[in-house]
Amino acid sequence: MSSSSISSLAAIGEFGLISRITGRVVTNESVIAGIGDDAAVTALSPGMQLLTSTDMLLEDVHFRRSWHDPYRLGRKSLAVSISDIAAMGGIPRWSLLSIAIPADLPLVFIDDFMCGYLSMAAENNVILIGGDTCSSRAGLVLSVTIMGEQLPEQVVCRSGAQPGDDIWVTGTLGDAALGLKLSEDGEPVSEELIARLLDPAPRVSAARALTEAGVVTAMIDVSDGILADFGHIAEHSGVGGCIQIGALPLSRYFCSYSADFSDIPYHLALSGGEDYELCFTADRSNRENISDCMKKCGIAMTRIGIVSSSVGVSAVYPDGSIYKAQRDGFTHFK
Ligand SMILES: [Mg+2]
Repeated sequence: MSSSSISSLAAIGEFGLISRITGRVVTNESVIAGIGDDAAVTALSPGMQLLTSTDMLLEDVHFRRSWHDPYRLGRKSLAVSISDIAAMGGIPRWSLLSIAIPADLPLVFIDDFMCGYLSMAAENNVILIGGDTCSSRAGLVLSVTIMGEQLPEQVVCRSGAQPGDDIWVTGTLGDAALGLKLSEDGEPVSEELIARLLDPAPRVSAARALTEAGVVTAMIDVSDGILADFGHIAEHSGVGGCIQIGALPLSRYFCSYSADFSDIPYHLALSGGEDYELCFTADRSNRENISDCMKKCGIAMTRIGIVSSSVGVSAVYPDGSIYKAQRDGFTHFK
């Protein structure tokens, strides 16, 4: 597409922008041909299968330019894709990035965005191998495709949960949602909560420790809230489950802010979204193995419930009363 409509980038043009990005890309031996040819050529490791996932991020739907600094937007746009590969037990390897750029976007925004994107890529050994750029008449549009690989026997799907399995989650829940709520309410909000919202860390090391140990029956990343995302595991596995609200892992930032609410805002931890933690199921005989995985990767893993044979997912307060969802996890088209 012509770059002439991108006035803020007009001086360098589309090809100038592409070579500006290409100049910063680090590559490795898995990339036979990267950016610059008609298609990228990559080599899978022997015996491994290819995992592919794609995500779109739209201005004012997924992010706001007034809130999200370009560096952390770049990091997050790749992090959420890496999180999907981690959730399959995969090793993230290559990415494609397509950007539709509004005419008023300063070049420095793209520079900072790419700096963030490539820092997240470097931290996870992901190589940018291609993409597309064009002008946008309706805000910044980002499309990220991620590819990873894994041995067939170590790929983890949503469909393997068994009745009686423990339900586990990594890290803490609700921090991003609380950060968003406080920001929207104009309340002061700690940098830690904001960082969970704007710069989430994909749990690749935790996922790899778990899949290498072979202890996981089903796994998903928590992007729409633990209730909705465990619900996907339950649905694909033909099971149900009960989540113990008293067992939900809450950060000290979450707990200290919660003190200002009349009730602990459990709905943010259950249905808030954007946690990018991993929810997984495992046979109860693997509790010790999972605690070894935790030590290996340095990421907390908490048992929050039990898979049941009867379908339907519920959450239960410590006093035994049933949680009534205010709304399910985030969903488009509603
Ligand atoms: Mg996902």
